[in-house]
Amino acid sequence: MSQIYDRVALIGLGLIASSMFWAIKRAGLAGEVTGYARSDATRETARRIGLCDRVCNTVQDAVEGADLVVLCVPVGAMGAVAQEIAPVLKPGATVSDVGSVKRHVIEAVLPHIPESVHFVPAHPLAGTEHSGPESGFAELFDNRWCLLVPVDGSEPDAIARLRALWEGMGANVDEMDADHHDLVLAVTSHAPHLIAYTMVGVADDLRRVTDTEVIKYSAAGFRDFTRIAASDPTMWRDVFLTNKDATLEILGRFTEELFALQRAIRTGDGEQLFDYFTRTRAIRRGIIDAGQDTDAPNFGRGTTST
Ligand code: NAP
Repeated sequence: MSQIYDRVALIGLGLIASSMFWAIKRAGLAGEVTGYARSDATRETARRIGLCDRVCNTVQDAVEGADLVVLCVPVGAMGAVAQEIAPVLKPGATVSDVGSVKRHVIEAVLPHIPESVHFVPAHPLAGTEHSGPESGFAELFDNRWCLLVPVDGSEPDAIARLRALWEGMGANVDEMDADHHDLVLAVTSHAPHLIAYTMVGVADDLRRVTDTEVIKYSAAGFRDFTRIAASDPTMWRDVFLTNKDATLEILGRFTEELFALQRAIRTGDGEQLFDYFTRTRAIRRGIIDAGQDTDAPNFGRGTTST
């Protein structure tokens, strides 16, 4: 793979930025990668583990001269960071982001982008429950989707270059409109996370009654909820605050379906339960056929659970 940008600046050095750095290096996609994080501790860790070619003490130093600047901070912080870097952005440069919500990020960032700079929002659909500069790895984006969400006036050349970068990092790339993105993600990611948070919260309340049983027998499905519910609190707070309408729409539908299943259980309607579970099982098969998960039992953990 050949070099796509001379200099890339990663702002925020957590899971996504660190994975981008290792994936960029793996394929030689940039001449130099600079990085900035707001805390001394994160910048120190980055220097210690060799994350970024140059870790800068100010966001302006990291951005100055960069051909691509990627905002890798929580969604709620994107606007303030864009405002800080706007005066030093190089004419002709591209600004992108990796935020999990797109309409809000566009509204917060676009007003700060100078005329001479391109803005091409993006969202890699890849992650883990870990965060911070030491959590990244080069393979995170391999065979995962990255959605580009161009805004009015995003230049085709700038979009094509960013697409090449994500493909070089191993991702499959698609383009999508911001509102559609936010609705799709509410279904596939945001509502499921809220449900996992709720289920783990309910079990935690129950634990006070049943002592340690909830932990001891957690392999029976609950453990997978706890993994999701261990995700970064700041990131997920911002997702729900900024993708409010789509998430509430999906949660409304979810609640209706939950009530319908609750009634089926109460009335002993086995046929309805069986039909419902047959339909959902087919969805899992579709995800595996699309190469987006393993069909190994128990997600390939090597142990079985009921
Ligand atoms: P992370 O590991 O928690 O790292 C966040 C980084 O942002 C840290 O370097 C942190 O700096 C910095 N930061 C936090 N608050 C800030 C603020 N108010 N101003 C400036 N910098 C701030 O996060 P991540 O998982 O990489 O997520 C980054 C972005 O990617 C988020 O927008 C998220 O929605 C999106 N995303 C996440 C996932 C996922 O699964 N994690 C997947 C796709 C997209 P310090 O370390 O110095 O505090």
